[in-house]
Amino acid sequence: MNVKIPAFINIRNEANRRSDFKGIIQKDNFKRFPLDTVKSINSDAEVELSCEFDYEKHPLARGKAKINVTSTCMRCMEDFSYDVIAEFILCAVSSEEQADSLPPEYSPLLINEFGEVNLIEGIEEELIMNIALTPKHPNESCNPFLDATEYADEDEEEHTPVNNPFAALNELKGKLGK
Ligand SMILES: [Zn+2]
Repeated sequence: MNVKIPAFINIRNEANRRSDFKGIIQKDNFKRFPLDTVKSINSDAEVELSCEFDYEKHPLARGKAKINVTSTCMRCMEDFSYDVIAEFILCAVSSEEQADSLPPEYSPLLINEFGEVNLIEGIEEELIMNIALTPKHPNESCNPFLDATEYADEDEEEHTPVNNPFAALNELKGKLGK
């Protein structure tokens, strides 16, 4: 399956035709993956999407994308690879105001002067949102001998002020109130 997903589409036109897309986005297109979390991108993204209108006539591209990446496990510090999977509802909008009025599960994409959205950027954004902030092996494959390195930071003592001025104030208020 080497059909490339188009970089730009007119979601409204595609929704009128009830178009489905299935294909790949080549990994070189992804420039904004967080380098501190993702050490390498190992595959192209596999993408499926369907264009349709919702009951309020919003033009939507609903779909799913999957890509394989390598990160360093934050528990045992070994590299491991895993799939990042994004499920998304992209919605073509013509203004920021329109974007703000959408249901929260929709991801707005601004249309350009040709009525098209940048699909690749939109899907890249969805994938990035699904990358773990602190990637870790699933428990069963993590190196158990290094688990002990997760110790509490003892340097951070609590600094609770001994004299809380508000407590004194509240006490005073309580007395005055009676
Ligand atoms: Zn691990």
